Amino acid sequence: MSLFADVILPLALADSYTYEVPKELENTIQIGHRVIVPFGKSKFYTAIVLRVHKNRPDHIALKEIHSQLDSNPIVNQHQLKLWQWISFYYIAPMGDVYNAALPAQLKLESKAYVSLSSNYGEIDTQLSPTELEIVNYLQECKRPQQISELSRDLNNKNLHSHINALTAKKVVSVTQTINPKYKERTEKYICIHSQFNESTAQEALKGAPKQWELYQFVSGFLKKNNVTSISRKSLLADGTFTTSILTTLINKNVLDQFEMSNSRLNEKAIHIDYAKELTPHQQEAYEEVKKVFKEKDVCLLHGITSSGKTEVYIQLMKDAIERGEQVLYLLPEIALTTQLTNRLKAAFGNDLAIYHSKINDNVRAEIWLKMISDNPYKIIIGVRSSIFMPFDNLGLIIIDEEHDQSYRQTDPSPRYHGKNTAIMYAHFQKAKTLLGSATPAIESYYNALSGKYGLVSLTERYENMALPTITLVDTKDLRRRKIMKSLLSPLLMEQMQEALANKQQVILFRNRRGFAPILECNSCGYTPKCKDCDVTLTYHKYQNRLKCHYCDASYPVAKECPECNEGTLQHLGSGTEQLAEEVSTLFPDAVVARMDTDTTRGATSYEQILNDFSQGKSQILVGTKMVSKGLDFDNVRVVGIIQADSLLNFPNFRSHEDGFQMITQASGRSGRKGEAGRVIIQTSNPNQPIFDYIKNNDFNNFFNAQLTERNMFKYPPFYRLIVIKLRYKYENNVAQAADYFAMLLKNTLGERVLGPAIPAVGRVQQYYIREILLKMEMGYPVAQVRNILKQYEGTVRQRSKFKYIRIHYEVDI
Ligand code: ADP
Ligand code: ZN
Repeated sequence: MSLFADVILPLALADSYTYEVPKELENTIQIGHRVIVPFGKSKFYTAIVLRVHKNRPDHIALKEIHSQLDSNPIVNQHQLKLWQWISFYYIAPMGDVYNAALPAQLKLESKAYVSLSSNYGEIDTQLSPTELEIVNYLQECKRPQQISELSRDLNNKNLHSHINALTAKKVVSVTQTINPKYKERTEKYICIHSQFNESTAQEALKGAPKQWELYQFVSGFLKKNNVTSISRKSLLADGTFTTSILTTLINKNVLDQFEMSNSRLNEKAIHIDYAKELTPHQQEAYEEVKKVFKEKDVCLLHGITSSGKTEVYIQLMKDAIERGEQVLYLLPEIALTTQLTNRLKAAFGNDLAIYHSKINDNVRAEIWLKMISDNPYKIIIGVRSSIFMPFDNLGLIIIDEEHDQSYRQTDPSPRYHGKNTAIMYAHFQKAKTLLGSATPAIESYYNALSGKYGLVSLTERYENMALPTITLVDTKDLRRRKIMKSLLSPLLMEQMQEALANKQQVILFRNRRGFAPILECNSCGYTPKCKDCDVTLTYHKYQNRLKCHYCDASYPVAKECPECNEGTLQHLGSGTEQLAEEVSTLFPDAVVARMDTDTTRGATSYEQILNDFSQGKSQILVGTKMVSKGLDFDNVRVVGIIQADSLLNFPNFRSHEDGFQMITQASGRSGRKGEAGRVIIQTSNPNQPIFDYIKNNDFNNFFNAQLTERNMFKYPPFYRLIVIKLRYKYENNVAQAADYFAMLLKNTLGERVLGPAIPAVGRVQQYYIREILLKMEMGYPVAQVRNILKQYEGTVRQRSKFKYIRIHYEVDI
């Protein structure tokens, strides 16, 4: 009886594929193993075994698994369950989930090699000029060649058909070779050959003083450090000994050289300093969380800024580790600062690994391999994607800054929400999840109040640091009365002056990068737009370029208007770049630093800007929402929010939630022991109720007001949203496909279907976009909607003109 395996391929096609298990693998193959399988004409891929069974599928053309890569599973059962859940819930191909989850270095690729048949001389056949050229070339280089190498060397991109012809004539054969990508890092070490000791070596090296000197150095080093070998690199580092002397000693068999694996994981011994003692409030919160976890799987810790949530996390993490469990600590990318990781490293030392987007592929693979070893990390602190790490014994997930929108992955697929996925992962492992924030997401707080989650509050700041005083400035009024001419109001300037005079610091928050967002012709009103996207370009003064913030395309700046050839292009509005420039002019004695995605592209520049600021090397920090995240400065006296309206005016049901969170978080950066910070919010519309909530630190009333609106307009937490996005090069086709899809859906789902509509940005990178929005009441069965969507997507694609339209889903936006 044959054995079959369903495997996951790293392709955005079906969920799994069935292969026959060859006899020799029948006893070894296991779920979670990597296997190499043929796919398509001549390609091989690394696949993951999802199921092993004895049910021969109906269709006939079944291929065999080529080989098995692992002796132990590389992906565990919890992970496979999670992948399946993500694929189902977020309506994303399983191959996309696999691709996102497994580090690139653990996926192997096959390469095709062409070799000349050994009996080529005896074959009697006619060859075309190109075929002859290939054969001559292969003869000349005497070894198999990759097709890509052949193409390059013969300067011909279309060799495939010729190679196929040669294969048919049996002149050449094509074989697939699989190249491992992940390489263990090794280092060369030198030791003394066992047959030598001090006196026999001296005897052997008589008359070669340099060699004897080297021998003595090595032997002295080994004795002094009580080790058996020295690294070759360090032995030769200072130039005292040459490579040739060393080689001679190795050739004489006095010294031996060997290779040893040398992990990339930086495991310097770290001094472990025990956690700080909790304050009575923190202790109480800690006890309450533990109590909640006796009854519930998820707990929300609502602790105001600087209440010491991190200390509470550290205690809970220690408890989990003591029970022998693992911990995952999630953070938004930009809140993952050295400030925080140093604190956690000090508490947990080498039990902990840090995982973020700037870690290189080999280190990623090594962390993964360590996680599936006998001695895995106990803690991973990382960004959204670390939910894909292989935990086998997860006890606790902490989601810090749980309100943060960057937990959502929008592109590429799988488009998932890291927070909900983490809660699911915890559920599969019977682990607990702690959500922490000073400004909880509306949905999380709703779940806490309705009893689905537990709720614990921390309402005191550490050492009773006063909360900042918040003042609103009406910029429209000031401008009308000609009192305010720059981007800064007189009050803000006065406060900044005072702070700087007292050697204190200032943060200015402006949620828009670039110089002036928009250039406009002063004669005809023309504004430059991206040629591939429906987006107005942003002016970047330093580079003197116009940039598209959607596709990153950059354009030169025309002085004269290209539309009317009469007017000139002038600035409208302002971004961080202009703000920083203006502040430098107004405060010439202060060092002004700017932090936004333009200034933080490099791996370290962002740490550098923060370090300089926290050491007082700069006094004024100007930035986008990056400056509002997880930072802990102790000398910031004033926080200014410039053009707060721009935060609130996005056409999105979450814009007030985001605005509330950003302003509150940014405000939290001000103040220090015994002295309240000052926050100045500049707005042209100070009468909006949201400013009262922010001013009074009144989360509860803000929450209630939001909830009323959400209910009225059918948004979460009362409704689940799914956006269907259709994209195509031709506008007509995509518009028709969207109409058709929406019509099919309306037949079944009725008024839950809205649209299709053209989104605010209707074209990106030459693709026209249409959106259909689904609003499903909470009780509506999740599986049923997904089935309906898949079925109708299939119906739409059956029409040939819609076949290649790109369709994807964004669930719980
Ligand atoms: P949150 O995450 O709630 O904003 P943090 O945990 O970052 O607050 O704490 C704010 C500051 O107070 C940090 O510098 C931290 O070291 C300090 N702190 C908080 N709790 C304690 C404690 N129990 N003992 C000593 N320092 C503390
Ligand atoms: Zn663009």
